[in-house]
Amino acid sequence: MRQPWRVAIIGGGITGLAAAVRLRDRAPAGTEITVYEQSGLLGGKLRTGELAGQAVEFGAESFLMRDPAGGESAAVTLVRRVGLADAIVHPTVGQAALAVDGRLRPVPGGTLVGVPGDLEKVAAVAAPAADADRDGGRPLLGPDEDVAVGALVRDRLGDQVVDRLVDPMLGGVYAGRADDLSLVTTMPALARTARVEHTLVGAVRAAQAAAPRSPGSPIFGTLAGGLSTLVEAAARESGATVRRDAAVRELHPTPTGWRLVVGPTRDPELVEVDAVLLAVPARAAARLLAGPAPEVAATVGELDYASVALITMALPEPELPGLSGFLVPATEGLLIKASTFFTTKWGHLRRPDGLALLRASVGRYGDETSLQLTDDELVATVHREVSKVLGTPLPSPVASHVQRWGGALPQYTPGHLDRVAAARTALRAAHPTLALAGAGYDGVGIPVCVRSGETAAEEIITALGGSGS
Ligand SMILES: Cc1cc2nc3c(=O)[nH]c(=O)nc-3n(C[C@H](O)[C@H](O)[C@H](O)COP(=O)(O)OP(=O)(O)OC[C@H]3O[C@@H](n4cnc5c(N)ncnc54)[C@H](O)[C@@H]3O)c2cc1C
Repeated sequence: MRQPWRVAIIGGGITGLAAAVRLRDRAPAGTEITVYEQSGLLGGKLRTGELAGQAVEFGAESFLMRDPAGGESAAVTLVRRVGLADAIVHPTVGQAALAVDGRLRPVPGGTLVGVPGDLEKVAAVAAPAADADRDGGRPLLGPDEDVAVGALVRDRLGDQVVDRLVDPMLGGVYAGRADDLSLVTTMPALARTARVEHTLVGAVRAAQAAAPRSPGSPIFGTLAGGLSTLVEAAARESGATVRRDAAVRELHPTPTGWRLVVGPTRDPELVEVDAVLLAVPARAAARLLAGPAPEVAATVGELDYASVALITMALPEPELPGLSGFLVPATEGLLIKASTFFTTKWGHLRRPDGLALLRASVGRYGDETSLQLTDDELVATVHREVSKVLGTPLPSPVASHVQRWGGALPQYTPGHLDRVAAARTALRAAHPTLALAGAGYDGVGIPVCVRSGETAAEEIITALGGSGS
């Protein structure tokens, strides 16, 4: 293998940047790492902006602190690695509400993403079906089976539990519907126990009992200066050459590695590298894979995405309840699907002038008509609907911002992880120096994306001939 190694990372989101840091730490000294980002900004769905003089998240807001298997999450480890551990802050108000029948009710405790482990605890929000969850004498799921979360929960506990609890909670993360989303991908711990337990409540309790305990430790964290500080620090620490406004349009295998076609069609730049790490959304990946691995491209390209918009408003001294925010089930007939009271939830954002920052999201998979509204219409709709849910008119905003995220949230249907595993196996066999990483494959959360980028970096190091450290 030629020295030093030349590795191209395509995609400057958190996955690509975590991969760049891992390559810097584990690949031989002198490895030339280049990150190609098609837009003018690094970070992808991590984007800290400014509203009314305050740093606000226009994309992802926070990360899980703990890894589901125990220990700190990969996001926290990366934050430490790039020297930002002291900037981690946690929500000061954690209680959220559900808007049900036009009223706000506390999100019940003891659930796994809305799937109850105790039916009494959820009764105020959703009544389970009368003959709910009888033991049918066998496990809920077969050994290799995957189902839609909604199908399983509707079957065991009835429609209300899905429509009023599970759907809004899953929708808050994926902008998708419980009836479409894969149990194995979105709720792996529950999928594991459902292969053993005979009732859903039993499976939830078993999953909760199996989860590593960390009493008192905060669930979520963010960075006081905004998540873009993580993006900048990761780029800096990786020592990678960062190429902004540099879309990679084609990938061609060569006898010794890869040739990239970068930039505009009328003036393309050809770049030779030894290995490529593809950290772009699935559709972009499918386009690049169409030449070198058409079957893998077809599998990867099947993944569908939901589009959302986030509307942030600065409001002068509104009367807000002491909540982090609320979720809105689709059955309520509103356009908003969630709202976060930023300045209540995050103590570090509180302002002496009493100005409150509130963010709402619109856009559900399969029903994206709300995204056809203009920015002004979206702000007016959010203002009207949040006032309605709170039962009190909000003051007029002094500033607002609309961030549209087109095709942003992957919709993992049943069998997703098996399809991804098969695609990766086929790719590894044909092209070991080309690795896939990111939210399109392993999961949507920041820690999962970080881990995905790091794992792909390790694969490339192995393919190129092992670690230099
Ligand atoms: C609105 C919203 C809110 C979210 N909130 C949270 C949250 O609070 N907590 C959480 O854990 N997760 C959250 N997520 C999910 C999480 O932010 C994403 O899953 C994650 O950031 C995806 O990272 P990525 O690097 O895999 O992809 P992306 O962030 O999509 O980055 C991919 C990059 O590749 C670039 N690219 C695409 N094609 C090319 C090409 N041909 N050449 C070069 N570059 C290219 C893109 O421009 C982009 O910058 C949220 C997501 C959204 C959309």
